[in-house]
Amino acid sequence: MPRCVAAVEIQPARRADVNRRSDAASSRPGGESARDLRPACGYASGIPGEAGHERNGLRTERLMSLGVAERDQRRARAADAVGEEITDWDRRAYLKIISTELSDDQIARIVEPQTLHPRQEAVLAVHWHPEFIPPDLIRRRLDAMFPNRSQELIIPTQHNILVDYDGYSGVEVDCFSRSFNRKVQLLVHFRTERVAQATVFRSMLERTFRYRARQLFEFIDTLVDDAYEDRLQKAADRAGADENLVRFVRVHAAKLYRLFLEFESKTPPVAIRNKILVHYFETLRSRFDPRMVNHAEMLLQAVKETVKHHFSNEFFYATEEVIEEVRGLGGSIVVPHPEQFWPILLAEYDVDGYEVWNPQSQEFTEFLIQVVGRQNKARKRGDNPILIFMGDDCHMGEKAKDPEFQDPEKVGREVGVQPAWDDLAIRKSLIVAGADRRTVIDDYKARLGA
Ligand SMILES: [Zn+2]
Repeated sequence: MPRCVAAVEIQPARRADVNRRSDAASSRPGGESARDLRPACGYASGIPGEAGHERNGLRTERLMSLGVAERDQRRARAADAVGEEITDWDRRAYLKIISTELSDDQIARIVEPQTLHPRQEAVLAVHWHPEFIPPDLIRRRLDAMFPNRSQELIIPTQHNILVDYDGYSGVEVDCFSRSFNRKVQLLVHFRTERVAQATVFRSMLERTFRYRARQLFEFIDTLVDDAYEDRLQKAADRAGADENLVRFVRVHAAKLYRLFLEFESKTPPVAIRNKILVHYFETLRSRFDPRMVNHAEMLLQAVKETVKHHFSNEFFYATEEVIEEVRGLGGSIVVPHPEQFWPILLAEYDVDGYEVWNPQSQEFTEFLIQVVGRQNKARKRGDNPILIFMGDDCHMGEKAKDPEFQDPEKVGREVGVQPAWDDLAIRKSLIVAGADRRTVIDDYKARLGA
């Protein structure tokens, strides 16, 4: 199969290249830094194997030193070797999970929300993921949910893809904080016209997106390639998986990869992520014992954790570099669920706000509100205060799923619904901090510019 070979290795943190401004004030053509990026040649190649990481034994070490094209070829051979014939059923299942076309039922599930919020007048939503749902359907859903809203700030934040919605654009960017050695995420927001010419920033996002997508291939490697047997075995132990189950998971992961190769040109970028494996296994429920599929998904989860643990974050752009680029374009920045990488609270990055509540992070809301209050007190006069945000982290694609495949917690998330704003205990802290939806919307809109 044709694979394009990476000519140059990516160097982590190429500060000099990244720091070039792409805003209107600079006459330097932003495209220049494109030489730092990978050739646009598909997701299965283009980013080198990372070196210098914890390895399991000599065989894995040798494997990690291979180039991307070689690893792609090796993976294809390994998947073939696990092999079982690919049937028309498999092909239909694959095409269904990558399909972004919506049926009438799916459209109805999106535009007809189950719960309405007629009393909510201010709608603030700056952390949510449209995935493959078109904006006009999302707008219809929001119109139905908040019929009496009089004030709103709604900005989507797809992972590493800049998306516009009614004049604002946003993105959730993966980056790397070297000072405390963690991958972190930033929510980045702009007035759309400010990023129309942002060549460098867009290239940074594209490279980040493709690098992040590579985790899927490491996930598949771990499942299909014998060289990763140690890792797979450890994950199997943790998930309580016996030989039969491991075999079942390997066979179907190998099939998925072969299907991906067969339909690579039809596979949309948003589908190329770890989740595609779970989505594929979900389709197996109609053919195999659902209890076995459940157990298979537990094993996948354990393997995914191992893969994440070994995935190198050093190839992401440095957090400071992303912040500098965004500031140069006149954008604003919010740190989502900061307690998940708490040193960020001490890093004193140039950001506009912290998210103090998220469906995955509800434990530290009051503490985080106090942290923001303390940091604001310590700020110099004239400095913008840090704002308090809450993120619903709604993934719209979840609503399009058949109800039997929906994750109850995830499907319950809604754009603009963050109940903690109205929680009696939390309200006490919010009042002290002077934060409510209306003031945050006004302040943040002012920072984003008219
Ligand atoms: Zn998110």
